[in-house]
Amino acid sequence: MNKNDIIEIAITDMGDDGEGIGKTRDGVVFFVKDAIVGDFVRAVVTKVMKNFCYAKMLEVLKPSPDRVSARCAVARACGGCQFQELDYASQLRLKREKVIRKLRHIGHIAACGDEPEEASGALKNPVYVAPTIGMDSPWRYRNKTQLPVGYDRENKLVAGFYAGRTHAIIAHEDCLLADEGNTQIANIVLSHMERCRISAYDEISHTGLVRHLLIRKGYFTGQWMVCIVINGRAKDLVRADELVAALREIPGMTSISLNINTKNTNVILGQETILLFGSPYIEDTIGNLRFRIGPHSFFQVNPVQTEKLYACALDFAGLTGSEVVWDLYCGIGTISLFLAQKAKKVYGVEIVPQAIENARDNALLNSCLNTEFMVGSAEDVAPLLQKRPEAAPDVIVVDPPRKGCDEKLIATMLVLAPKRIVYVSCDPATLARDLAALLDSGEYRLEKVQPVDMFPMAGHVETVCLLERVAN
Ligand code: SAH
Repeated sequence: MNKNDIIEIAITDMGDDGEGIGKTRDGVVFFVKDAIVGDFVRAVVTKVMKNFCYAKMLEVLKPSPDRVSARCAVARACGGCQFQELDYASQLRLKREKVIRKLRHIGHIAACGDEPEEASGALKNPVYVAPTIGMDSPWRYRNKTQLPVGYDRENKLVAGFYAGRTHAIIAHEDCLLADEGNTQIANIVLSHMERCRISAYDEISHTGLVRHLLIRKGYFTGQWMVCIVINGRAKDLVRADELVAALREIPGMTSISLNINTKNTNVILGQETILLFGSPYIEDTIGNLRFRIGPHSFFQVNPVQTEKLYACALDFAGLTGSEVVWDLYCGIGTISLFLAQKAKKVYGVEIVPQAIENARDNALLNSCLNTEFMVGSAEDVAPLLQKRPEAAPDVIVVDPPRKGCDEKLIATMLVLAPKRIVYVSCDPATLARDLAALLDSGEYRLEKVQPVDMFPMAGHVETVCLLERVAN
């Protein structure tokens, strides 16, 4: 097999990044960009590796029954969506299958989508994986958009999205996953830049002023935040008062700021933020709770699904009002405050100090006085908290980043032996690894597994699991 060879191939599965996977008759595995499961396609080989090859689809010879037309004109070029050509019900099915596969292969857990099977051979702990909880309408769900500003091939000033795996900007400010209002905001900023001859940033030469537009919208409150990230000083954005006046015309505009980022980096925000208008934060609600969100705050991007995710975590926690609960990797305390309404006391732990400040503010804002938040890594803080007898946990909730929990934390949890552990995961592979470590102790049983679709059209899947301590 060589680069630029043409192949015809049946696609039988899909990879984590949304690429179609198939095997040729001679057993070579292909990852085919733009092909979806069930397709029979013609493709060109783009890269030959030792054990597999990459290819790019040229033509669909026989379309998958699950194939639909992409709604967005730049769906294939843009790095944001991987699944636009797969119908939504199939996306949900595929995400559930991915969770089942990782639990079986990595966790050696007898996970299945039908009736739980008997434990057999190497597979333990039969468990039913529920169908993925999806959205009624899987579009326009994102509350946050980051538009790079730059120049296209004709040197025209544009705002848009990065093409997959590169930093070439595709001019397209109306992302179908985000709010329509983004287009108007981007156009106001771009026309101000043109009128006042303000330059856009160029990554390669590290020159030019405007780098990114960070736009957030409170989904339930309708409040808008615009943060313009610049490579320079505040005064370099000339006639900013005119720009602010134009942006303020947008109903719900609540916060307009400048962020200074003069570093040669692809991290979007710099440290310093200068308020140009309104409040330094917007507010949004999840269920009956209010949250303050600033340009730097981590906040789940899909508010509709966040409510469902947290409701599931709360349900699995099985609280009656008398429990002590630990919320590890708590971010700005969103899950903690949900739990606090049904618990005696909630301890939240998070590594980012600003997030803990937000968590404390959010607790006050919602009068959740039965909460205590601590800065530090979960693996280091848990052993300290363990020394406080009043803090002995009945339930532990963990919501780690993609790399999963530290081994040391797993060991501490096993010593603490809470009645229940609720594991909220954004990566089924590390979830499976961590569950295996907890189950191997023989102290816990995996009772429930619930995938939730936080990112329609993209490959990621979130999973909530309930582990219960085995009565001895
Ligand atoms: N539960 C929150 C945040 C989950 S994201 C929510 O739903 O909004 C995971 C969080 O873990 C991030 O806020 C990240 O900063 C934090 N984090 C990463 N490594 C950590 C560690 N070792 N200990 C504690 N928190 C950590």
